[in-house]
Amino acid sequence: MNDSQPDNQLTNILIVDDTPDNLYLLSAMLTEQGYNVRCVINGSAAIMAAIADPPDLILLDIRMPQMSGYDVCKQLKSSERTRDIPVIFLSALNEVFDKIQAFEVGGLDYITKPFEIREVLARIKNQLNLQSAKLQIQKLNTELEQRVRERTKELEQANLRLLHNASHDALTGLPNRVFFMERLMAVLAYTHTYPSSQFAVLFLDCDDFKVVNDSLGHLAGDQLLKAVAQRLADCINPNYTLARFEGDEFTVLLEQIESVDEATLLAETIQQALSKSFLLHEHEVFINTSIGIVLGNVEYEQPEHLLRDADTAMYQAKTLGKARYQVFNQDMHTRALTRLQLENDLRRAIDRQEFIVYYQPIICLLTGRISSFEALVRWKHPQRGLVPPNDFIPIAEATGLIIPLGFWVLENSCRQLKLWQEKSAQRGEIFDITMSVNLSVKQFSQPNLIEQIDQVLESLQLDSKNLKLEITETAIMDNPELASELFEQLKARQIQLSLDDFGTGYSSLSYLHRFPLDIIKIDRSFISNLDSMEKNLEVVQAILNLAHHLGMSVVAEGIENQEQLSLLRLLGCELAQGYLFAKPLDTEAAETLFFSHPKW
Ligand code: C2E
Ligand code: CA
Ligand code: CA
Repeated sequence: MNDSQPDNQLTNILIVDDTPDNLYLLSAMLTEQGYNVRCVINGSAAIMAAIADPPDLILLDIRMPQMSGYDVCKQLKSSERTRDIPVIFLSALNEVFDKIQAFEVGGLDYITKPFEIREVLARIKNQLNLQSAKLQIQKLNTELEQRVRERTKELEQANLRLLHNASHDALTGLPNRVFFMERLMAVLAYTHTYPSSQFAVLFLDCDDFKVVNDSLGHLAGDQLLKAVAQRLADCINPNYTLARFEGDEFTVLLEQIESVDEATLLAETIQQALSKSFLLHEHEVFINTSIGIVLGNVEYEQPEHLLRDADTAMYQAKTLGKARYQVFNQDMHTRALTRLQLENDLRRAIDRQEFIVYYQPIICLLTGRISSFEALVRWKHPQRGLVPPNDFIPIAEATGLIIPLGFWVLENSCRQLKLWQEKSAQRGEIFDITMSVNLSVKQFSQPNLIEQIDQVLESLQLDSKNLKLEITETAIMDNPELASELFEQLKARQIQLSLDDFGTGYSSLSYLHRFPLDIIKIDRSFISNLDSMEKNLEVVQAILNLAHHLGMSVVAEGIENQEQLSLLRLLGCELAQGYLFAKPLDTEAAETLFFSHPKW
């Protein structure tokens, strides 16, 4: 009954009275009004009827034999099934009626006999309305409670989702960097409380991941990352924390370990697991990983420092040839710092004019005379002294500083050659030497290289025939089309080209005939043990044959003794360079040597 204007047809009323006349009167009256009426004549029958089919309202006589109306009401109120049925007491006017007791046992109202029809109906209606209103409120309350419960649950779930999203990576579902760093912070704090506890961090980076993205597309790259994440998760003890740190980098936190062996063992397991191929859109893909390991201890104050060192170790693993792991040690940190320092110093070195060029002669073996000088740059570091190029050229290449540095060397060595040329002229001597300048891969692929060379030669009034450029195989192989084009332009200017360090790089002989090279420089490693290693002798012989067949000359690099020189002369090598003749010399020493007209 949820209508506030109850339909009498649907309203059941139970009348309880031991006086049949009363029963008859009331029932006739209410039936006429359309109510469904049931009548019983004593208390126990009333209770049974109410339990069997709870009515909407009970009219209950107070004075009955056996069980009084009060007792009936009390019992009805004590049972859940009948508790809420409104009870109106019936009492005779002449009877002693205890209203207080009537209300105490749960009666809601009372009607006195003899019945006044309008009063009876009004009171019944009143109670039914009240009951209906009460039920409605109850129902609304229940609904409201239900909604609040549901909403709370939804909010809780949304909160959990948000919390999860903030700390997890959407692609792989793994914990993310934020999560990892928080966990690491907690573990570090624990270690500060219990200094004997040990933990480790693994920093894992996929080798050449870019190749997958570039060749198969980013979607395939994403898929591969998911697959890698899955394989990693399969390797990892649930007590450890595996996270996707960034891009193709993953980290693992190993808590409460006994020794470093646990970390290296895990690194081996991971590399083993990842060494099997992945299937991506029907392509079989292989991916290697380099792993850096750092052991955590109380000396670390900040989680970032652990990551930094794990990253340094990872970088070291990559440098040593990828697909391996390295455990961090303090030397690595020192080296990384030195490199960083060197990088910073290098940026300022050009402006501060800390570079100088040394010159090493290249000898023509036919005449025994100097045929050329190779310009070799040196860095006069204000604190470190003379820094050899192998220590800073790679940094200059990695940072792009090689471009201005290379240009500086080109300009300075050409200027020097011009000066020597002028001095020769003043002395009335013939001048026919060239300057060999090294060009790095980066410079070689620089769009305005030719322009710069032209500009230098032009401003110095130096004949382009006097310039030789030394490039490595990598410069050609990295971009053969560009190399071809450049070669044409250099050829047009009669600038000669040497292929440096031959034998150490690709050494693919097949491309040699495609490029108009003038000179091949056989790397020092083949010359140094020429006399003792027969194989080297054969290689040098083969290179000489090939070069001559293609119309190129050969420089033997790194000649240090007379035997090597004799052998190379015997083999028909036309040019040579090495400590036997002279080390790289500063301007003054080179000049003295040159004007002394040595002959070997
Ligand atoms: P490179 O072009 O192969 O230069 C020859 C290197 O071999 C020089 O080392 C030279 O000192 C060394 N050398 C010459 N004869 C002998 C010998 O008989 N025995 C031994 N043990 N070594 C000998 P350096 O000057 O330290 O240069 C190292 C490398 O640095 C060069 O190798 C070159 O690749 C690079 N480099 C030097 N200057 C420049 C430059 O201006 N630009 C560029 N891009 N690279 C440069
Ligand atoms: Ca060289
Ligand atoms: Ca060389």
